[in-house]
Amino acid sequence: MTAAHDFPAYRGQMEYFCLGCGSRYNVDELHYTCPDCGGVFLLDNTDFDALSARSGKEWQDIFDARAATRTTPLRGIFRFYELMAPLLEPEDIIYLGEGNTPVIEASPAMSDMAGIPFAFKNDGQNPSASFKDRGMACAFSFLKSLVRKHGWDEVLTVCASTGDTSAAAALYASYVGAPLKSVVLLPHGKVTPQQLSQPLGSGATVLEVPGVFDDCMKVVEHLAENYRVALLNSKNSWRILGQESYAFEVAQWYGWDMQNKCIFVPIGNAGNITAVMSGFLKLHRLGIISCLPRVFGVQSHHADPVYRYYSVQDPASRVFTPVTVQPSVAQAAMIGNPVSFPRVRHFAGQFEAIGGQGAFQVVQVTEQAIMDAMIIANRHGHIACTQGGECLAGLMRARELGIIAPHETAVLDATAHALKFSGFQDMYFSGTLPAEYGVTPDAGLSNAPELLMDEAARNALAPEEFTLAAARAVAGRLGLAPKS
Ligand SMILES: *Cc1c(COP(=O)(O)O)cnc(C)c1O
Ligand SMILES: [Zn+2]
Repeated sequence: MTAAHDFPAYRGQMEYFCLGCGSRYNVDELHYTCPDCGGVFLLDNTDFDALSARSGKEWQDIFDARAATRTTPLRGIFRFYELMAPLLEPEDIIYLGEGNTPVIEASPAMSDMAGIPFAFKNDGQNPSASFKDRGMACAFSFLKSLVRKHGWDEVLTVCASTGDTSAAAALYASYVGAPLKSVVLLPHGKVTPQQLSQPLGSGATVLEVPGVFDDCMKVVEHLAENYRVALLNSKNSWRILGQESYAFEVAQWYGWDMQNKCIFVPIGNAGNITAVMSGFLKLHRLGIISCLPRVFGVQSHHADPVYRYYSVQDPASRVFTPVTVQPSVAQAAMIGNPVSFPRVRHFAGQFEAIGGQGAFQVVQVTEQAIMDAMIIANRHGHIACTQGGECLAGLMRARELGIIAPHETAVLDATAHALKFSGFQDMYFSGTLPAEYGVTPDAGLSNAPELLMDEAARNALAPEEFTLAAARAVAGRLGLAPKS
């Protein structure tokens, strides 16, 4: 058995395989969509079954021991190396502190409110403050291995983004440096100032497109098909692999016991929920977990194509139709034509085949519920972004619909840090959220700074008088009783 601190000796055989026509392609090339049919790819380790030589318990012990490793390439998402991209060499692996994000139990008041125990897994505590770092760590490590093998002297990495993909892509590209260069395409005015500052700060070339994410995605797809660029959207299946680490970490945190666990994931381009399902299926296949958790996707009523698809009860009558999105506070998930939809369908089918009916579901929530949930979560000591709020709103909705029971435990993906989306909070508090979001601020949830005295009042006072006057103003405002 490999010592926990050693880099694993196992190497798999990875291939792209097309979900449209089943074609298989060698991973020595960069592929995003199938040259034969245009379908999306997944990555398949054709040597995966060799991993069954070890029991599920042995794998648990290996991953548990590795949790304390000081071998840098195994400290992040590659703790689960054999399950993810077991063709990388240690020198290829980029580690910027991604993964291993904390699972924070809901505050007692919040659990009472939901009527069910739950926790947030804070993926906003990744280096660029969203879960996208998991996928980027894997995609960039693979890119680095290709650069090493082919001796490429320039690689232009491009992505379209609702904000967080570009932040992560620019961060990893700037860390690796030459020969990688980062270009990001953003929908003009549709990312938060914090998100925009990230690729700018990392030195990426930031290009803005008038329109929404779906427009940027079409441009980037055209580029990837016609020019020599490395595409870093979740169409790139290496990103999906890296994001599987979220599922592995959840399972490990709960002692590999997924009985009565329900995972809530916001759906935008549907890469993340694909990865979460794929990850749990791998663990199950190797007997590392003995049952699957249930997975709930969450979508806003302003961007809900996946919800609409699954809301048709009879699978044979389901037809996927893209929707035109409306403004959403869950802006990172405001996508009408999710690229990974075929992947969702692929894994959802496997989930239901093993876990039975209800193993995979999608719930729809309102913009109002998303915004209120984000603020309620953060008023209880959490650091949820609007998409984290969307997950909480999804949990409340699932409770309402009676599709989740109090004996279950929910794990909500807080996909980014609250600070990235604080602009929505500001607009909610100041009543300036544009009407098209359809959100009415609840005065009881709003908050605003109060100025104790104006500048002129301050200037009229000597410094010691000012301190005294300010302290008195505070005491008056708070109704403080003097010490007797
Ligand atoms: C990208 C993103 C999402 C949506 O994830 P998909 O993989 O596109 O479904 C949700 N929340 C945040 C914060 C994101 O950055
Ligand atoms: Zn194909």
